[in-house]
Amino acid sequence: MDELHSPLDIPPEQMREMGYRVIDSLVDRHVKMRDARVWTGATRAELDARLYDAAPAAGSDFHAALDRLFEDVLAVGARVDHPAFMAFVPGAPTWPAVLGDLVAAGTNTFQGTWLASAGASTLELVVIDWFKDWLHCDDAAAGLLVSGGSAANLTALATARLARADVHPDRATLYWSTETHSSVLRAARTLGFHDSRIHQLPVDAGQRIDTAALRTAIARDRAAGLVPLAVVANAGTTSTGSIDDMHALADACADVGAWLHVDAAYGGFAALTGRGAAALQGIERADSITLDPHKWLYQPFEVGCLIVNDGALLEKAFGIMPPYLQDTALPVHDGTSTAPSGPLPVNFASRGIQLTRAARAFKIWLSIQTLGLDAFRNAIDRCLDLAAWAEQRIDASAHLEVVSPARLGIVCFRIRAERDLAEKINRAALDGLMEDGRAMISSTRVDGRFALRICVLNYRTQPDDIERVIAWFESFTMTP
Ligand SMILES: *Cc1c(COP(=O)(O)O)cnc(C)c1O
Repeated sequence: MDELHSPLDIPPEQMREMGYRVIDSLVDRHVKMRDARVWTGATRAELDARLYDAAPAAGSDFHAALDRLFEDVLAVGARVDHPAFMAFVPGAPTWPAVLGDLVAAGTNTFQGTWLASAGASTLELVVIDWFKDWLHCDDAAAGLLVSGGSAANLTALATARLARADVHPDRATLYWSTETHSSVLRAARTLGFHDSRIHQLPVDAGQRIDTAALRTAIARDRAAGLVPLAVVANAGTTSTGSIDDMHALADACADVGAWLHVDAAYGGFAALTGRGAAALQGIERADSITLDPHKWLYQPFEVGCLIVNDGALLEKAFGIMPPYLQDTALPVHDGTSTAPSGPLPVNFASRGIQLTRAARAFKIWLSIQTLGLDAFRNAIDRCLDLAAWAEQRIDASAHLEVVSPARLGIVCFRIRAERDLAEKINRAALDGLMEDGRAMISSTRVDGRFALRICVLNYRTQPDDIERVIAWFESFTMTP
């Protein structure tokens, strides 16, 4: 056959030029961010008109397509990395982390087997060891990086079930509070747990699981011949940042041989600060912990993490070796002639549900190497300060009331109003702020009642950003 130059193959000079242009567009977006709206809406019809094309048979200019991406696509929606975005959970990656993801994509590293990526696998082990250290996990703990907190929670419950393989799945029961993230219920349903085996227990005034109610539910289930399989603790909740009493939950689990999973997707990295570590006391007693580096460790989407205290369980739960992967079975040939000694290599595909995995450790490692852990620690601490300041500012206002105090960067509040009118007024004010576009927060329900919620997580957020939000609600009046 003739030698063919594939049109998919781009010459090196052009590769560089395209790459520089992408970097320029990203840095420009960053430079203009402060003056840009936080959120811009559009209807499906408007966007269809702008974007619906048949796939072109022949290619056209990269720069023109890139401009469309920035102008037509990225211009609508929320800028979750905007310093004034304090809705939901903000996502504010550092630049070295973004470039780490570019390296992972540009090298297309296959981070599933030791054979394919011994170096990248070691880096993932290194990063997981850092996390274990920050949370004071056992030496025998092991973990893996996954797509996010939802995937980590699913992987955790699957591992918990394997750890109690003696229990018939129909008899296994699960427990968490009404404040627990929806991904936990979704994980349980995905794994085939029936809703009748799942207890969503009430919370106390601090939005923490009622441990007496938990013990009662466990006792009742055991009396009915069911087997308590796992309890999921919050550290902290997405609504209010509250942290369940992990010592009390660990004791309750120990009494009946149940697994304690801690969902620390939102709050786990606060352990890097003195205040956060104090608030997260007891987390080291968990059988498994979910973390979300794409939240408070300032990484780009997607990266979550699961750490399992009895690390060997992960491979017991997920390890399967099909014939077409037999060459990757451990120990693989490592390029030396000596018999393997020292720590064993790891096939990360055997620790979770993904075979083909991106090298998610690159971004974490590169950003912490470049910026240093102290910079991350200080950024998290500063968010805690800003949230505490926001609470004081709200508390001092005659028009506003604090609904739940600053916990792990989250403060809930509302405009004071008669109970019947409160939801309407607060919703209207929230909608108005979104339309205004200079800042964005979101809402939730606390004790069943509508509440405004500020989540401070971006390392670029300034006191002014928060002041603007609070002043907006303080001065809001309903126009009939
Ligand atoms: C965000 C969050 C999740 C889900 O994580 P994703 O990364 O969005 O999948 C789970 N639990 C808690 C407490 C969270 O805040």
